[in-house]
Formats: sequence, structure tokens, C-alpha cells
Amino acid sequence: MEQTLVLLKPCTLQRGLVGEIISRFEKKGLRLAGMKMMQLTDAILNEHYAHLREKPFFQMLKDSMMATPVIACCLEGVEAVRVVRAMTGATNGRNADPGTIRGDYCVSNQQNIVHASDSLETAAVELARFFKPEEIFSYTPSNMNFMYALDER
Ligand code: UDP
Ligand code: MG
Repeated sequence: MEQTLVLLKPCTLQRGLVGEIISRFEKKGLRLAGMKMMQLTDAILNEHYAHLREKPFFQMLKDSMMATPVIACCLEGVEAVRVVRAMTGATNGRNADPGTIRGDYCVSNQQNIVHASDSLETAAVELARFFKPEEIFSYTPSNMNFMYALDER
């Protein structure tokens, strides 16, 4: 099983879409292993978006991520990193396919509803950035045998 990080961005809280977005991941069959509300800081965003620090929109992006608290989620499933990225869709909501979260809920390149880890390596680093080990929970969903074949998990 893989674990991946999803952040519900301030735009999602402001627009009252938290339940709807979490519900999509639940309905897909991903296990919610961790979830918390947190106020992001300049320091954590400098790390989290280090790959974008030379971009002209860097400060605007950080400001948008500090506008309200975010909801951080740890989602688990077979190939969860790829599955969650596919559900998330292209960065720019105007280009994201209908049926993806960004394709269905936003029209922006920045105010794009969720962050999702883009590789297994990134997911491990990002989960450690946003969660303490004791904030990630291990439990067995009672419907596990109906979510996956025996040889899939
Ligand atoms: N972003 C932006 N302007 C851009 C490109 C990206 O504001 O031209 C923001 C957007 O919120 C995006 C985040 O920067 O989600 C991180 O960018 P990345 O390229 O990692 O996209 P993602 O992995 O979120 O699809
Ligand atoms: Mg990214």
C-alpha cells in the first residue's frame, strides 16, 4: 500500500467544498489514514514549494496558501500516489479534464482546490513535513475484501 499527501487549499475551505472533495477520495476507496487542519507558514511553504521559488508567482502562491488554514490528509491505497494525482487532474483548472477534481471544481491555475504528491519519494517527504508519525493511523477497513482482490494488496 502507498500513502500520499493531499492538502485541501484555502480556496476549498472558502468555497465550502471540503466535504465534497474528501468524499470523492472516500468513494474511490482510498483509506483516510490522517487528517488535520493547520495554518501554513512561510517557512513550511518555502520547503514545500522549493521547486517554484524562482517563479514570478511564488510569493502570490504562498500568500494564497496562508489565506486560511488548510486541511492536510494522508490517503492510502494500492498505487495511491498515481491514483490521487490522476483524480486531481492538470495543474490549471481550465486545462484539467472534466471528471477530475480540478476539472470539475475550478477555473484557476493557482486556486486549484488540492495539492497532491507527485511521486512516491515526494509523498514520503511531504507526509513527514505535514504529519507527526503518531498522527498517521493504521486500521483495517472492514470492507477491504470487497475493495481489492486478494492478490492486489
Ligand atoms: N501555480 C501557480 N501558477 C502557475 C503554476 C502553478 O500559482 O503558473 C501554483 C498552483 O497552485 C500549483 C502549485 O503552484 O498547484 C504547485 O505547482 P506544481 O507545478 O507543483 O503543480 P501541481 O503539482 O500542484 O499540479
Ligand atoms: Mg506539484
